[in-house]
Amino acid sequence: MTQQWSPETVSADTTTSPTGAEITTTECRGCGAMVSGLNGRYACGVCGWVNDWSEGHTELPRAEDDPDYPGRH
Ligand SMILES: [Zn+2]
Repeated sequence: MTQQWSPETVSADTTTSPTGAEITTTECRGCGAMVSGLNGRYACGVCGWVNDWSEGHTELPRAEDDPDYPGRH
């Protein structure tokens, strides 16, 4: 099954949103479909492949950064 993208969604490989999150595109390692993601994080809608969280371009927030972190005093 091939995934067809409408032309307006593939106008650029890389765009930067107003929030600074970088929209990137890669080839799915599971089925080869083009997958768009944010800051290097990808999830394929065709086969369900996701890349590892550590491959993202940005640091993930720590539990301590969560305002609801139960260990906060
Ligand atoms: Zn896939």
